[in-house]
Amino acid sequence: MKHTELCKLISRSEPIPGIFDFTIESENIAKEAQCGQFLHINCGESTFLRRPISICDAYDGKVRFIFEVKGAGTRELSKKQTGDMIDVMGPLGHGFEIKDNVKNPVVIGGGIGVFPLYKLAKELHGRADVFLGFRSKDRVVMESEFESVSNMVITGTDDGSYGYSGYIASAMEQYLNFHDCTMIYSCGPMPMLKAVKKIAEERGIPCQISLEQRMGCGIGACLVCSCETVNGGADKYAKVCTNGPVFYSEEVTLND
Ligand SMILES: Cc1cc2nc3c(=O)[nH]c(=O)nc-3n(C[C@H](O)[C@H](O)[C@H](O)COP(=O)(O)OP(=O)(O)OC[C@H]3O[C@@H](n4cnc5c(N)ncnc54)[C@H](O)[C@@H]3O)c2cc1C
Repeated sequence: MKHTELCKLISRSEPIPGIFDFTIESENIAKEAQCGQFLHINCGESTFLRRPISICDAYDGKVRFIFEVKGAGTRELSKKQTGDMIDVMGPLGHGFEIKDNVKNPVVIGGGIGVFPLYKLAKELHGRADVFLGFRSKDRVVMESEFESVSNMVITGTDDGSYGYSGYIASAMEQYLNFHDCTMIYSCGPMPMLKAVKKIAEERGIPCQISLEQRMGCGIGACLVCSCETVNGGADKYAKVCTNGPVFYSEEVTLND
């Protein structure tokens, strides 16, 4: 069930420039949040539409989300101070599925796509092998937090300034040449998701991907966030906000 609430901002930090780490109070949302679901946030008066931001963590009546300032909405949201109230709708969408029998799960995120994967990694109870990709060393976030809840973390940068040098999907591909895996979970930029989908499907590994499409209403009414599925006819398009944001890679066609 979704709730629309005015929630108090109880903690706020900027771990790297332009990335804001917020925790709000909400008993209802914290109790119901599943990993991979998102909040639809009224950022303030400058933007009419709410903005979707993933739930990074939820516990003890608290909900954490981390966002990058991209445009007017996230810029206005970033100005909120501890004690301010934020108008939040959530939890929304269909999140990641965690199956009990999943063996050696692999979690792979890129850039701001790492944030929704943290609650997932926690709920995999130390079993996940995690791959985190960033543009460069100064954009690396949450590495130690992932390390504290995962079996193993490999961090990489596109420019080689920290950790694995190159695209993080390549690091995962090399790892899969020597390790079994029965589920891949992924969120990140479209080129990374395309690479992850291809690698998973070539190996026959089920793969869940979270799509961060531009979104309007967040509740399935406006169709702004439609994505193309592999089906025809009436099922040719799915709504990222309600059918997703998490899909099995084989369900969707990834377009730029
Ligand atoms: C389900 C979901 C979960 C998300 N979770 C997070 C998260 O945890 N952390 C985070 O930082 N961001 C997340 N996003 C992206 C975030 O919603 C957008 O960055 C935000 O809506 C931009 O709003 P704005 O008003 O600041 O910028 P706008 O003025 O609306 O846009 C600024 C620029 O960002 C681009 N943009 C806007 N929305 C998106 C989008 N969805 N994907 C790619 N580019 C976009 C625009 O094309 C434009 O170039 C998520 C998106 C979705 C759909």
